[in-house]
Amino acid sequence: MPTYEYLCTTCKKLFTTVMSISEYEKGKVKCPKCGKGKVKQQVTTFQTKTSKKS
Ligand SMILES: [Zn+2]
Repeated sequence: MPTYEYLCTTCKKLFTTVMSISEYEKGKVKCPKCGKGKVKQQVTTFQTKTSKKS
């Protein structure tokens, strides 16, 4: 499942959450610290598993 990175605009906590696409589309993301829903999605640096062939 994809990982999404969010910044809580209430308490400035940066957190990542893993959820399915359907959950993501619902947009019900809450800050784990203060429980507020005022979150901003951050530009995620996708950690794709690159197998470097040397
Ligand atoms: Zn918060």
